[in-house]
Amino acid sequence: MFQCTGYAAQTAETPLAPFRFERREPGPTDVEIEILYCGVCHSDLHQVRNEWQNTLYPCVPGHEIVGRVTRVGDEVSDLKAGDLAAVGCMVDSCRECESCREGLEQYCQPGFTATYNGPEQGTGANTFGGYSSHIMVERHFVLRVPQGLDLAGVAPLLCAGITTYSPLKRWGAGPGKKVGIVGLGGLGHMGVKLAHAMGARVVLFTTSPGKEADAKRLGADEVVISKDPDAMAAQAESFDLIVDTVAAEHDINAYLALLKRDCTLVQVGAPEKPLPVEVFSVIWRRRNFAGSLIGGIAETQEMLDFCGEHGITADIEMIPIDQIETAYTRMLKSDVKYRFVIDMASLPKAA
Ligand code: NAP
Ligand code: ZN
Ligand code: ZN
Repeated sequence: MFQCTGYAAQTAETPLAPFRFERREPGPTDVEIEILYCGVCHSDLHQVRNEWQNTLYPCVPGHEIVGRVTRVGDEVSDLKAGDLAAVGCMVDSCRECESCREGLEQYCQPGFTATYNGPEQGTGANTFGGYSSHIMVERHFVLRVPQGLDLAGVAPLLCAGITTYSPLKRWGAGPGKKVGIVGLGGLGHMGVKLAHAMGARVVLFTTSPGKEADAKRLGADEVVISKDPDAMAAQAESFDLIVDTVAAEHDINAYLALLKRDCTLVQVGAPEKPLPVEVFSVIWRRRNFAGSLIGGIAETQEMLDFCGEHGITADIEMIPIDQIETAYTRMLKSDVKYRFVIDMASLPKAA
């Protein structure tokens, strides 16, 4: 075991604070990474506040990680100390079930090992995420960083990027398709950029009129203020696909009504309370209400390579780690432009 420093929540009510803990030494297929940047996902906030009622404390969040390899296990031949590397929401999985064999590790049947909030394969121990100095990851779950992109802006691709890329690909976003993205936060702004790069016509739905100009700069063809009933009615039955990234309670029936026949609303935002569906929202026009969880490892690499080809990174605000609670407070007010990224050089050396 070796010593790491990080920031942890000790309970749902206490702010994050410096924390010292141990990680395992590299096993034969492990990769140790020194973390340079870690994005701040709304899931980090749901988890530290125990909004999904499954948090293991102490909780070191963070699953949008870019760093440099520091050590590798004996069987790792394609990575070496000094290489850039990235890690998303998973650090391991069973590697044997049907989902894992299909490259859909996020749907691993016994359950993947989440980058934080575990449980670790075999031991069941809690895992500690990217708000820390180092992380130890099974080789299969380490991703290549495309050349030429700003590294801090790459970090949010590891969750916000793949979580929007995966449903956009699966449900066919592309030329000739009208795609709605609901919410312009971390996920939403990546959804706008990616859907635009895939060639779709992109409509952004927002509760924040002040974000309209940004949405257009990011790639939206049209912006709809979702609190305006006339503007919503004007979009009725016109969408091929809508991806909803909203982190709080809201009326999804208002969005189902905007889908064409047989088309799909994919929920990726994960509010703590249920989102009621009016049955006629789906019966009428045989519509689909679906969900999607991050993306598999091969698809995450595909997304990173796509971002490399298209010069896509997140629009970020860099923060030192002692500003994390301020970042959370702003996130709760939908005031994120459009992802906070922690500069890990700000981590206290002896926490
Ligand atoms: P975020 O940066 O806070 O963005 C969420 C956006 O939702 C806000 O910027 C805001 O956009 C909109 N919003 C917030 N409150 C709202 C309300 N009451 N009514 C309507 N709109 C509201 O969060 P994020 O990091 O993008 O994460 C979004 C959600 O996705 C979280 O629940 C997170 O846990 C979840 N998530 C899921 C997955 C997955 O695999 N499915 C992966 C990562 C994250 P406007 O100001 O434009 O309205
Ligand atoms: Zn996330
Ligand atoms: Zn599996």
